[in-house]
Amino acid sequence: MNIFKDIVNLLLPPRCAVCGKVLDIDKGLCDECIAEFDFIKDAVCYRCGRPFGNLSDGRGHGVCASCLHRKRYLFRFSRSAFGYDEFSKKLILDFKFHDRTDLASLLAKMMYVAGSDIFAAGIDVIVPVPLHYTRLLKRRYNQSALLARELGRLSGVKVCCDAVAKIKMTRPQAECSGAERLNNVKDVFAVKRPEEITGKRVLLIDDVLTTGATLTECGKAVRRARPKSLDNLTAARAL
Ligand SMILES: [Zn+2]
Ligand SMILES: [Zn+2]
Repeated sequence: MNIFKDIVNLLLPPRCAVCGKVLDIDKGLCDECIAEFDFIKDAVCYRCGRPFGNLSDGRGHGVCASCLHRKRYLFRFSRSAFGYDEFSKKLILDFKFHDRTDLASLLAKMMYVAGSDIFAAGIDVIVPVPLHYTRLLKRRYNQSALLARELGRLSGVKVCCDAVAKIKMTRPQAECSGAERLNNVKDVFAVKRPEEITGKRVLLIDDVLTTGATLTECGKAVRRARPKSLDNLTAARAL
């Protein structure tokens, strides 16, 4: 078996998933690329996922001031694997628009680690933020659905990619200013399969959280179908 593995490694040596450099040990990424990721390791607000920074409550599991003052909340837990910066932006854009679908497995593994609290708390169904069907036809894949499927494989939790649909075509959020973003995605999501949501512990998956407008709108649509709980997990997040 080892000889077989050696031959495979000789023919197809393990490479860094990001830069393609040949690796001595198959650990997924080279040391240089690992060092580039701004992994979110410090304590975060468990509701919105924002790192506390120096304001850490020391227990590692608190709620930030703005979430504390909110009477109603959309998400039980919010988590992200790493910060959205120049390095991760390039990676996410390659994943999303330039057919680097091979990155799904690496990103999902990072998300699975970052979302360990969520999986420990219990999830019944993983639901990706959907694309409008015309965009899906053009792009050929929904990057969030690829992440959801990988997370389903890692966690053993059911994945449902058509529970929620995007029912209106919108301008890309990246083209909108901060203020326009909320309006751009208002009422564009609808639950298509309430039987997958109602009474279930739902985890929403997206690639990036910037202003949070997309996840909030999608979350509101999911909430209307009365899940037991609703969490979100993204690969990157603007800090
Ligand atoms: Zn590398
Ligand atoms: Zn918060």
